[in-house]
This record gives sequence, C-alpha cells and structure tokens, in this order.
Amino acid sequence: MAATTTVNKVQEVREVTRLERIGAHSHVRGLGLNDDLEPRQVSQGMVGQAPARRAAGVILEMIKEGKIAGRGVLIAGQPGTGKTAIAMGMSQAMSRDAPFQAMAGSEIFSLEMSKTEALTQAFRKSIGVRIKEETEMIEGEVVEVSVERPATGTGAKIGKLTLKTTDMETIFDLGQKMIEQITKEKIQAGDIITIDKATGKISKLGRSFTRARDYDATDAQTRFVQCPEGELQKRKEVVHTVTLHEIDVINSRTQGFLALFSGDTGEIKSEVREQINSKVSEWREEGKAEIIPGVLFIDEVHMLDIECFSFLNRLLESDMAPVVVMATNRGITKIRGTNYSSPHGIPIDLLDRLLIIATKPYSEKETKQILQIRCEEEDVEMEEQALAVLTRIGMETSLRYAIQLITAASLVCRKRKGVEVSVEDIKKVYSLFIDESRSTTFLHEYQEEFMFSELAAAGDATS
Ligand code: ATP
Repeated sequence: MAATTTVNKVQEVREVTRLERIGAHSHVRGLGLNDDLEPRQVSQGMVGQAPARRAAGVILEMIKEGKIAGRGVLIAGQPGTGKTAIAMGMSQAMSRDAPFQAMAGSEIFSLEMSKTEALTQAFRKSIGVRIKEETEMIEGEVVEVSVERPATGTGAKIGKLTLKTTDMETIFDLGQKMIEQITKEKIQAGDIITIDKATGKISKLGRSFTRARDYDATDAQTRFVQCPEGELQKRKEVVHTVTLHEIDVINSRTQGFLALFSGDTGEIKSEVREQINSKVSEWREEGKAEIIPGVLFIDEVHMLDIECFSFLNRLLESDMAPVVVMATNRGITKIRGTNYSSPHGIPIDLLDRLLIIATKPYSEKETKQILQIRCEEEDVEMEEQALAVLTRIGMETSLRYAIQLITAASLVCRKRKGVEVSVEDIKKVYSLFIDESRSTTFLHEYQEEFMFSELAAAGDATS
C-alpha cells in the first residue's frame, strides 16, 4: 500500500514538471505559410492573423536575401493578439540554430549594468556564430575502461580505455585529465564515444546494443578491436553554434566561462568585444565560422526610454545585427524620458526604420481553434460543450485568461477522476480565478477594505 502511494506521488511530480516545461508559445512551430508565402488558416500551431503572418513571411524573405540591414520590425496590436507568437514563429522559420532572445523593455532598468550594456548584451545573445572545427574525431565503442594505481612509481593514476574502432593509429593510454572525464561522463564499456584527437576531449554519443563483454578478452588486451570499415565512422567536422555573447563571456578574463552558468556576467569591456569581433571576422574569412543572425524580441518596447531608443538606432546599423522584432500594445503615448508623445511611444526617427505589422483581435472561430491547439499541446481532453464555453469566456475576457483556465480545469477534472474536461470543470475554475474585469469590479466594490485605496481619497477617477 505504502509502495503504491509512493509510486503515485512520483508520477504526480513527474507530470507537474512536464506541464511546467510547456511554455505559453510551445505550440508555435513556424509561421504556417505555404511556398508562395500564403498563410494557411491553421498550420504549424498558428491560427488566423493572416495579413500579419504574410507580412512576417515577406520579412523573412528579405532577411534571407540580406536586405534587412539597418531596419527592424514592429508588431503593434492589442494584448493577446499573438505578437509574441508571431515573433516566435519567425524565429522558428529561420535556420534551426538561429538564436531567439526575448526580453521585456522594462528589463533594461536593472541596477547591475547600464542600459546600453544590457541592450548590447541582448543584441549579442541573438547573434549566433556557427563554428566549424576541423578536428579529427575518432568514434568508437568502449570495450574496457579501467583506472589503476600502479604498485610502484609516483602514485599517479593510469587509465586505460579500450576502444573498438576503425582508427588503428591511436593508442589510448590516458592521462589524469582523461580519467577525470571518464569519471565525470560515466564512461562504461558498451558506450559509443568520440575522442577529439587534438584535445583528447571525450563525448558520449550513446550506448551500443551489443554488450561489451561479448568481445574477446584477448582482443581487449591488445587495446584495439578492429572492425569493418564503415561500421563505425571517423568524424572529421564538428559544427556548433554559440552566441557572440557567450564568446564575450568566455573571453573576458574577470568572468571566465563559469559566469555563463550563474547568469551573472556583469559588464563586458568594449576592448574584449572589439577583439572578438575582429577574431570572428577572421574566422569568417578563413571559412571557419559563419554568422547566424537570430531574432531579438523586445516586448513592451514603449518601456524603453529616449536614451535606449537612440542607442538602438545605432545598434541596428552595425554590420552584425540580429533581426530586431519589437512589440507594443500602446497607441500614441509619451516617449519615456521626454515630454513628447509619439505613436507607440517610439521616436519618429526610429519608427521610420521599422517595418510595422498590425495584429487584430481574433474571431470566435479562431479563438476556439487556438484553445483547441493549446488543449492538444497540454494533453488535455475536453468535451465539445466545454470548449464552446471556454471559447465564450475567451471572447468576453481575454484569450490568455482562457488559455490559463485549460491547465486549471484539467487538474480539477483529474481530481474528480474524470478523463475529459467538462462544462462543470470550466465553471469551477472560472469561479475560482477571476479575470481582469471581474477583479476590477471586485476592487470597486470592496475598495475600503484594502490598504492605501487611492480611489476612496481621490473620488472615483477611473469610472
Ligand atoms: P501582449 O500584448 O499582452 O504581450 P501578445 O500580443 O504578445 O500579448 P501572445 O502572448 O502572443 O499575445 O498571445 C497570447 C497566447 O495566445 C499565447 O499563448 C500565444 O501563443 C497564443 N496565440 C496568440 N495568437 C495565436 C495564433 N495566431 N495562433 C496560435 N496561437 C496564438
């Protein structure tokens, strides 16, 4: 009995972790366009919003042809109309290793670094450098691993790694460093590994289906087991993509690469960046590296101030710029840091460089389709009737609120041991969690009960 409870608990924990990993836009896998850049009504997780998706597709074409330099994109529309989803779709449609970096305009105002440094880092996090390494890699299957301490001598550890490989020239009497790797990577007999001939770095590729002990022990003694050419391959080219920011951090002496894991990278000296820029252009000329511009998405761009906007103007002109996609749900409003108003709170000179895409509110049918896709994404079965009710809620409150109710309703459903979310489940969570308009009504009714109620003092200014 106790054992069953434990098993259930473990299962519950696992499921919660899985849910957390499903991000708000995880269903978006591209822009859903056909070859003529015409949007399909429902495709790649995207629904409706056809003109905006088509426009985004045209921009992608411009990017491919290298005709976007010095310009950016602004997606303007009401909250919940898919601005972030479209930016995400654009990045998915770009090359697979193109970085996507999302930030909110307000993130710039942190005490740890200046605004310009924060913007520069965001830019460099969105530029990928695809590095091709011509190192010789030996791929093989581990037959035997042993770490011994010799009876005589200095007491240093000796490692022996016996590999079944086509590469017969190499001998693996490994030094201390490799023993550490063997221990860290938990290399065992039967693992398929590669060894970088130049640096000795070991990477684990997987496990072999044949068990290592099936090999003849005498072969293992000779350290190599020859196998037919082609059964295991020799890898010559390793390609990996890192961001310019990662290269900056690794090369800034005060930080070291460990800063990458803590996220606390601080400011990076401009000399370091200059050196890296020239190194990267050298690699480009030698054909060792390629620049992969990604997408930098700045949500709530109206939260930036005039200094940031002028710096952005400059950054957009640099020759290694990502595709900057900004989003705002504001109309004509003050430019932060000034007394001037401007469309979307963005100065005219920057607006002039932007290709502006408008998003529109969804129809009932589209709202239903988006909710349906989210149900599938979250593995939630929902009765047709319940989906209809949820759609109505989405239309009357907001799409995002309705999306949030899916997870909550499915938990309520599971609690009553149901399989499909019913109308009752939806009603229950609708009464448990209030949306923005009910929250406002509630505050109006009970304002005196709250601390510092400004409405009571100033008269009802908002109504
Ligand atoms: P805000 O102005 O509040 O930041 P937004 O316009 O960026 O809102 P999103 O966050 O993109 O809106 O949309 C809300 C939710 O609806 C997200 O989960 C998003 O993935 C989904 N969504 C929006 N539009 C679409 C669409 N056309 N197709 C599929 N999913 C969509």
